Amino acid sequence: MDGNWKATEEMVRQFEELFVNRRAYTIQSMKPHPKSGRHYYYRPTRNQTGEPLALTTRTIRQHLEGDITIAVYAINPKTQRSKWLAIDADYRHSLEDLLRLQGELRRDGIQAALEKSRRGAHLWVFFATPVLAREARVYALNLADRLTLPVKGPGWPEGIEVFPRQDQLAEGEFGNAIRAPLGVHRGAGKRYWFYHADYELESQLRYLAGLERVSEAKLREITRGMSIPKQFAPMSKSERLRPSLYSGGDFRILDYVEVRRKAGRNYWTRCPSCAAAGHDTSGDNLAISIEEPMKYKCWAGCTKEMIRAALGRPIPIWRFA
Ligand SMILES: [Zn+2]
Repeated sequence: MDGNWKATEEMVRQFEELFVNRRAYTIQSMKPHPKSGRHYYYRPTRNQTGEPLALTTRTIRQHLEGDITIAVYAINPKTQRSKWLAIDADYRHSLEDLLRLQGELRRDGIQAALEKSRRGAHLWVFFATPVLAREARVYALNLADRLTLPVKGPGWPEGIEVFPRQDQLAEGEFGNAIRAPLGVHRGAGKRYWFYHADYELESQLRYLAGLERVSEAKLREITRGMSIPKQFAPMSKSERLRPSLYSGGDFRILDYVEVRRKAGRNYWTRCPSCAAAGHDTSGDNLAISIEEPMKYKCWAGCTKEMIRAALGRPIPIWRFA
């Protein structure tokens, strides 16, 4: 059972200082999806106007007190910077990989906090001032390369996930959100704590606030001469269109898009294929059936093949030699 936690103003302030880099956020649904059983995240909006809600201190308090569960975005699009680097891993033996990463960070003189999660863990590094998302990624992906860790991405379904997930965001983009620490995971109905501090809010936040933060100068020094390792660089369009061995029948569109709103019997969001062409900026072309989320449709007429290709998970075309 999750205890009844009270979040003080100081805790809310510490949390905001550590994790909040922009006012957009997502919220984890309280009820599981009837079919998949998963608790999906959506961007909350004002009921009447559909205007997105901004993250406030009240939202943070509710998250810490366990009334709601939020996820936070890494990159602020105005600056293309992130306050933190988070590495998510939830595959078999992922904890071992994260511990190796933590050790490698330590060798560079960097403290990283390890947070449990439902199936694995998250590793967090905090910066003294927000750093360019690209530079944080260059560092994390070079560490992964050095340790030969798998990195999740198009055509590679299992591995670590690096947040920020993008080098930079275009106007109107949000990037990927990660479940904010210290709240209740709705799927598990419990909290996951950081190691190395007592399992209650005050100690946890004190521990996090006391971690040494990495300065931009230090990050630059460590990453001097580095670039994104070739195997992790974004694929060219022709590569993405090539059917991948990993595009099996287990494709779930909801693993790839972020639901913007629910209306009628559908979830609605930006169509990935439209987005790739710079269209659907209002983000409501793609309808995904709530009842049967394997059914989805772009109202601008993109085919399933186009949508899958845009997601880097093309529908396999089997060729026989
Ligand atoms: Zn479309």
